[in-house]
Amino acid sequence: MTVIFPITGYIFVGLFGLLIGSFLNVVVHRVPRRESIIRPASHCPHCGHVLRAWENIPVLSWLLLRGRCHDCGSPIAWRYPALELLTGLFSVVVAWQWAIHHAMSLRWSLLPALLFTWILLALTMIDLETQLLPDRITKPGMLIGLLINASALLWSGLALTTAWNALLGIVLGYGSLWLLATAYLKMTGKHGMGGGDLKLLGLVGAWLGWQAVFLTLFIAAVSGGLVAVALLLGGKGRDYAIPFGPYLALGGWLMLLWPHEIVQGYLHLLGG
Ligand SMILES: [Zn+2]
Repeated sequence: MTVIFPITGYIFVGLFGLLIGSFLNVVVHRVPRRESIIRPASHCPHCGHVLRAWENIPVLSWLLLRGRCHDCGSPIAWRYPALELLTGLFSVVVAWQWAIHHAMSLRWSLLPALLFTWILLALTMIDLETQLLPDRITKPGMLIGLLINASALLWSGLALTTAWNALLGIVLGYGSLWLLATAYLKMTGKHGMGGGDLKLLGLVGAWLGWQAVFLTLFIAAVSGGLVAVALLLGGKGRDYAIPFGPYLALGGWLMLLWPHEIVQGYLHLLGG
């Protein structure tokens, strides 16, 4: 069955993405603090007042409240509306690319593509704020990716790759960074990468298959290297620990959306 992806589809995906972004804000705030993401209800971290429905609308509430808590006036970080907007925007980009890649028809595999995007967004924000990639997200994230792709053994509608590719992806993703990190430790006596980075590349392998692992790492190394050089030239960045997670997430997301274009581009690069 072919269903043309309509403009109302994009609007729906965008609005749904805003709501997911609102939930991701809760995840980003609470998971590193080891708090439940379900209870208690959303509240101001300063005065504890529970948000009323109109104070909990993505982006709009932040604008209406002019970035301050209604009760105590404490500032609400711009990260909140920013993550909501980003999640909405990225969700629309995924739907748009999915429609193009699949001849403008609606596919069930859009759902795991969106879920993968949201997990990467949450991990990126947490890593930027805390320099950590929590096991509470990376481990179940890896398992969910593997299960979704294993569902292809019964029905291929949801899967992004095969079960075997996913399993090899975990081994290759985790294993390759483990080798790099171990070699780095042996040579310098310093820890170059956190265990979270290993699990994040394993997670990308679980969702996209082993074929995506190398170029995800390549994109992460190049983009991370460029930013590090820019920071050094700007006089910043020395002795400043730059988390690697956001670059791995970027690489994984680009490999989700443009795998063929990136492989072609890389081969072109090799060929001079
Ligand atoms: Zn307050």
